Amino acid sequence: MYALLIIDVQNDFCPGGKLAVPDGDDVIAPINKLSPFFENVIQTQDWHPNNHTSFASNHKNKNPYDTIDLDYGKQVLWPNHCVQESRGAEFHPDLETIHTNIIIRKGFRPEVDSYSAFFENDKATSTGLKGYLDSLNISTVFICGLATDFCVKWTALDSIKSGYNTYLICDAVKGIDIDNSVQIAMKEMYDAGVEFILSDYLIPLLDN
Ligand SMILES: [Zn+2]
Repeated sequence: MYALLIIDVQNDFCPGGKLAVPDGDDVIAPINKLSPFFENVIQTQDWHPNNHTSFASNHKNKNPYDTIDLDYGKQVLWPNHCVQESRGAEFHPDLETIHTNIIIRKGFRPEVDSYSAFFENDKATSTGLKGYLDSLNISTVFICGLATDFCVKWTALDSIKSGYNTYLICDAVKGIDIDNSVQIAMKEMYDAGVEFILSDYLIPLLDN
């Protein structure tokens, strides 16, 4: 069994949003084409309280994209984004969500950020996704969404570590790209064993 995992296609990560990924909304058309072919569709939603530790505004003398050291390692500081109940936290209105079975919210604990759909950034606190996938006998995960170099990458690496065959749908992801971070992320995923595929090649394989 296989599943489609749609990472953080929210207004704040799309053009005009608070933490816009360049051309982030380009992922929507291929995702909308893909999702009807999947029986299991999972979406993640970044969902922060205002006092979240990943917001630069909550740290003295810090700017967005500075880094700080937290108990669990380095944390990039971001502009305030995906604040609970804000319009920015909503899924992009063009994203077709009718095929989605479950929405995993992440980043709601003020003291820890959560890039991966599987674990929070402390790499210990589970989101419950693995239990969900295992209970449905899912062995292969196809990943798309935003952003390639952060939440998508961390999800893909955790998916491999959790034992799933893991595919990145390369035309259905976009990155923020700080200091070449997209290229570095692609290499990290490749080295970990993530397979790369394009949606136009994937659809005929699913359509039977
Ligand atoms: Zn966030």
